[in-house]
Parts: sequence; C-alpha cells; structure tokens
Amino acid sequence: MSRLHSRSWVREAVRIIEADANRSADTHLHVFPLPADWGIDLYLKDESVHPTGSLKHRLARSLFLYGLVNGQIGQDTVLVEASSGSTAVSEAYFARMLGLRFITVVPRSTSPEKIALIEFYGGECHYVDRAPDMYPEAERLASECNGHYLDQFTYAERATDWRGNNNIAESVYAQMQSERHPVPTWIVVGAGTGGTSATFGRYVRYKRHTTKIAVVDPENSSFYGAWETGALDYATGMPSRIEGIGRPRVEPSFVPGVIDEMLQVPDAASLAAIRVLRERTGHWAGGSTGTNLFGAFTLISRMVSEGQAGSVVTLLCDGGERYANTYYDDAWLAQKNIDIAPYLEKYREFLVSGKLAPEG
Ligand SMILES: *Cc1c(COP(=O)(O)O)cnc(C)c1O
Repeated sequence: MSRLHSRSWVREAVRIIEADANRSADTHLHVFPLPADWGIDLYLKDESVHPTGSLKHRLARSLFLYGLVNGQIGQDTVLVEASSGSTAVSEAYFARMLGLRFITVVPRSTSPEKIALIEFYGGECHYVDRAPDMYPEAERLASECNGHYLDQFTYAERATDWRGNNNIAESVYAQMQSERHPVPTWIVVGAGTGGTSATFGRYVRYKRHTTKIAVVDPENSSFYGAWETGALDYATGMPSRIEGIGRPRVEPSFVPGVIDEMLQVPDAASLAAIRVLRERTGHWAGGSTGTNLFGAFTLISRMVSEGQAGSVVTLLCDGGERYANTYYDDAWLAQKNIDIAPYLEKYREFLVSGKLAPEG
C-alpha cells in the first residue's frame, strides 16, 4: 500500500479513463407518457446505455479514479472486489482498459450468465460458499497479493464528486433545463451501495434546489428500517430478490440524512412495473427500475390528488436483456411465487385515473 507507484503510469491511467468518458455520450432522459391533463411529467434517466450496460459504469469509473489519485492503484496492482453483479462487470471493463488484473469474490451460487459477463470483460471470479464471506475474503485476497480492494460498499458515497463534475445529478438538471417543470418535485432512486442517493441528496442541497429525494427499498432490505429507526446497525440478514438494490445490512455508503422519504416496495410491484414500462415505452429494464417506477407512480398519484403540477425523475438502471430468463419469464415468476397480475391491473388503472390503489 505504501509503495510509491510510477507517476507517469498513473498519469497515463487517468488519461485513459477520462478518454473513455470523453468518447461516451451522456445518457438519455426518456419521457414516460402520462395523461396531459395531470400537469405532471415523468422522466427516466437511461443508465443502461453506458458501455457496460448499467449505472455501475459511473461507480466503477469513480472508484478507479479515486484509487489512482489516492496512490492505491499502480501498474502492477491486482484489483479485488466483492461483487457478483453489475459492479464487477463495469470494474472488469476498466481494469482491462488499464491492463490490470481484476479478481471479484462471488458466492458459488452466482448464475453462470453473470460469471460469463464478468469473464467477457476479462475479470476473474474467486468463489466463496456463503455470500457474507465475500467481504473478508476480498480483503484477505487483496492483502495477500499486494492488491487493492475497491470496496464499493464503503467508497461509493465518497468516490463521486457530489458538487457536480458531470455526476448523474448535474446531468439530470442540465437535461431538464428546457422542460416545463425544470426542477423536479421528486427524484426517486433505489439503494444498493447507497451511492446514487447520496450523490443526488447532497447535490440538491448544495445547489439549493427544492427537489425531494425518495428512496425505494425492496422486500428484505435493511435500509428502510435503518432510515425509519435511525439505527444504522439495523440488519435483516436477508438477500434481496431485486438485483442491484436492497441489502442484508446497512452499507457504509448509505447516507440516510439526505433522504426525504423512503418507500417499501413489494417485489411483485417492482416486477409488474417493468412489464408496464415495456408496454408503454418499448424499453425493457431490470427489476430495480420497476422498484423506481412504483415509487414514482406512488408519488405522482399523491401529486394528482393534491392538484400539484411538477416533474418526477427516476432511473432506468440497467437493461432487461440480462433478465430475460428471470424477471421477464412467467415460469420463473410462478416458481418464485410472485404474482404480478394485481399490480398490472393497478398500474393500468393508475395510468388512466391518476389513482394508485393502496396495498392489499
Ligand atoms: C447498484 C444498482 C442500483 C443502486 O445504486 P447504488 O448507487 O449502488 O445505490 C440500482 N439498480 C441497479 C441495477 C444497480 O446495479
């Protein structure tokens, strides 16, 4: 760790990562059509169009730059992470770009499709039997091979510059400039690391916007209970079925103080919402986007009933093609005992009347 890395290599590495950003276009802000007479506009920032297919492209870029400027990543550093998901995919991409070895610690139960995607980008998978063993094993592996543990759950909130510097919040506000309600009433996001909600929450305060931040949380997650009780050691110990969001423990990157409201979202509600998204916009997305949409619909129905005009912005976090054999497969839903039919009905009714029927 205390070894000095070649400054010329680090300079070149930073240039390579900046060049990747410079070649990339900003992600779209799509409109989700709502009846015009509500006076409310809903937008989806499409993070699936990043080169590695999810909002974790931003996080991986930030974690690499943070490690480089902190002197933790050099030309022979082995990079280690604990992730079986989109973070590992995006980190593998940047590691290969810099010619660095990347190892991610994953549970043995990880699907072959995900392992194939990580390996497609040049990453190596190191297996543990139980999910909670990922973190100590990643730490051990990093220290054993003189490597650097990227540790998304600790560093997500601080690796991204919340003041702006082309972060996701600054991009949304710039893209909203010519809309009829340019300052959103609500921004709705989920929490996996908690990094995205921290960036939005800090940015809106720093810029003195009136926008409120709503965080949607799936079944079994610890974040909702922690936010409600203020107990950051609140832990369900249960995995989430909505990939990318919901955690068995409260992660260090979760910043509850910048969240105005949290909503608990049933998994069936999330997975019904991505079907409605596809039906209404042609876009298909992962489950966490459905969780976001349920939150957006809930807040919009409240705005309709209060006669409040305005805009709501949420995220399309990753594309649906990664979930063709799960969330979009009726047989998979049946096998998991997830019944989306009642929610499909509620959403179709909501998109006509503006009233979202309550749970139950
Ligand atoms: C990571 C992730 C999220 C949540 O973002 P955080 O910034 O980690 O809280 C949402 N959806 C998907 C698909 C993700 O991979």
